[in-house]
Amino acid sequence: MKVDILAIGVHPDDVELSASGTLLRHLALGKTVGLLDLTRGELGTRGTAEIRDQEAQEAATKMGASFRWNLGMADGFFQHTPDNVRKIVQAIRACQPEIVLANALEDRHPDHGRAAKLEADACFYAGLAKIETFDDKGLVQERWRPKAVYHYIQDRNLRPDFTVDISAYMEQKMDLILTFRSQFFLPTAGEYAKELSTPISGKDFMDYMRSKNQAYGRDAGFAYAEAFNVSRTLGINDLFDLI
Ligand SMILES: [Zn+2]
Repeated sequence: MKVDILAIGVHPDDVELSASGTLLRHLALGKTVGLLDLTRGELGTRGTAEIRDQEAQEAATKMGASFRWNLGMADGFFQHTPDNVRKIVQAIRACQPEIVLANALEDRHPDHGRAAKLEADACFYAGLAKIETFDDKGLVQERWRPKAVYHYIQDRNLRPDFTVDISAYMEQKMDLILTFRSQFFLPTAGEYAKELSTPISGKDFMDYMRSKNQAYGRDAGFAYAEAFNVSRTLGINDLFDLI
């Protein structure tokens, strides 16, 4: 069950939109990846929670993730409660990731910033031995604190602390996003054509996604990049690792 990277999103498509190129790159490097959704995105204007469950599992399989779990918190109404912290702590301890990718620190969707705080706090609390949680078999879980939490930038164009080159994975990323057929533009999505449009359901949004990754790539000389924030100061051993 252990994975190198756990990518957490409050809605089932957050990770695909913002960090899937980075995950594809690390999977290609031989790292393992787990996905954790906090809610089923049941307040989404288009589709249903059941449809999004199917789309999410399909995307995880396509990506090559080891698992995709869903904590069933309330979309839009979840709060930073001890119970919700515990749920994430339990998931972190179950898969013992070195790195956690979390929601954007602030964003257009108010759930994202709230989830970012909850996710980052849970990463810290997962390392406290006196917070007791149990695994599926009822056994006490060992404490586990991930080495790093990186917040992927999603809708608002925040200033990144670093970017990851996803040039080789941009097309695969677009395909993963379009797996969420109920949410995003697809010329063949006739069954969803009658649904209400949203700021992310048109072709213009898909074009914007590509341009956004292009814009974030430009500073570092990448064709396409995903962008991240980190709350603490980063350190490196070798100046030549920085581009
Ligand atoms: Zn979202």
